[in-house]
Amino acid sequence: MSQPPARGVLRWALLVLAIPVTAQLILVAAGAADLAASLCCIAVEILAGLGLGLFFRRDVERLGRLLGGEALETPRLAALQRVAIAASQRIAEAQGEEARFGRLLGAEAAIIDRLPEALVMVRADGSIERTNRAARQGYGENSAAVLRHPLLRGAIDRARATGEVQTADLFFAAPMPREIHAMVTPMAPADPGGGVASVLLVDRTRERAVERMRADFVANASHELRTPLASLIGFIETLQGPARDDPPAQERFLEIMAREAARMNRLIDDLLSLSRIELSEHQAPQGRIDLRELIPRILAGFEPRIAARGIRIELTLPDLSPVPGDADQMSQVLSNLLDNALKYGREGGTVGLSVEQVSGAPWPRRPGVAIVVSDDGAGIARVHLARLTERFYRVDKGRSRAIGGTGLGLAIVKHIVNRHRGQLLIASEEGQGSRFSVWLPQ
Ligand code: ADP
Repeated sequence: MSQPPARGVLRWALLVLAIPVTAQLILVAAGAADLAASLCCIAVEILAGLGLGLFFRRDVERLGRLLGGEALETPRLAALQRVAIAASQRIAEAQGEEARFGRLLGAEAAIIDRLPEALVMVRADGSIERTNRAARQGYGENSAAVLRHPLLRGAIDRARATGEVQTADLFFAAPMPREIHAMVTPMAPADPGGGVASVLLVDRTRERAVERMRADFVANASHELRTPLASLIGFIETLQGPARDDPPAQERFLEIMAREAARMNRLIDDLLSLSRIELSEHQAPQGRIDLRELIPRILAGFEPRIAARGIRIELTLPDLSPVPGDADQMSQVLSNLLDNALKYGREGGTVGLSVEQVSGAPWPRRPGVAIVVSDDGAGIARVHLARLTERFYRVDKGRSRAIGGTGLGLAIVKHIVNRHRGQLLIASEEGQGSRFSVWLPQ
């Protein structure tokens, strides 16, 4: 608390005067000193005391202003100067510490904010104290809904009660199916904002979907192989038993067996090429594809089947320079698309095969080439379109199998197009035919 300047000076003066004035008065009382001379002395002492008080007070005020950072004047008294120097050093050290602490806090906030996984700090009442960027981007308004999940609430309570990390696996059906692994770390004492636990949310939806896809793939592949294998085993047993002496039956059965064996062969070929393509998918293809040479060569290979189904081919092949890519893989893409157009196209209908230089919607703005294979067959219902490139996905399983399909053709096309950093577009309507377009960057 500050006091009026006059009172401050008086107090200093009193401190300085107390002893000599008291001594003077004692001397006068004892008759050892002359009264008039003593009063003179006391008056001089009072003046000197007031002067000294003023001086001390000014110096101490100087020291205060210096330490408060209001002015740079140093005290005149050597002792106060030493105090000023020591105090200035402590202040500078404390300021350095404060700055370092501030930087550390800033760095910690930046690290938390840049974490790739979502992090939410919760208060004791369950409310959100703060979230990092991944949490805001991944959950936005839904962070609070995630925290209300009973399993997560239980994990937070357990973490606070035991002081140990707790985990919970959460499943959300809406707004879209999501599987989240939550890790709760208790914080004792709470952070300055009142956060008592940090909740790390790891979205496992994609990982789980991949796991399920792998398991489905193995089950599907074994099932696809087991069917022709079971039929082969059955025919072998029949040939060894009841049909042992029946040459016409033997001939019929051997024909079916050859067909089943060929189907297994195709399936294994497709599985192997799919895994080879997947292995090289991250490497950009080397080489160039001369579509003006490749397309007629592929069409020539399909001639017997084109003729057998009475299909007319409409070919549009302008003059264009080779595009970067793997010619063998692109020949597989074109073969699979043509094979489908011939399988599922209308008997006696038309299959279009065109190549066009394109740029802009629906394709990227960069220069590229669109290869389009279209047919006027039965088409595909809209609900199936998004899933056609999944392994073993077929609109009509029985029909696909009966005409020798493996269910892997479009999956292979998709992976090759991905490797070429291209795009695949499937457009179809029931009863209107289908259109498969492949875009390749030039
Ligand atoms: P598949 O070996 O069965 O032909 P694909 O992966 O090549 O396997 O094709 C997957 C499914 O997509 C096919 O089973 C078929 O139902 C459908 N499909 C593919 N191409 C066409 C097309 N041109 N017209 C109609 N349906 C098609």
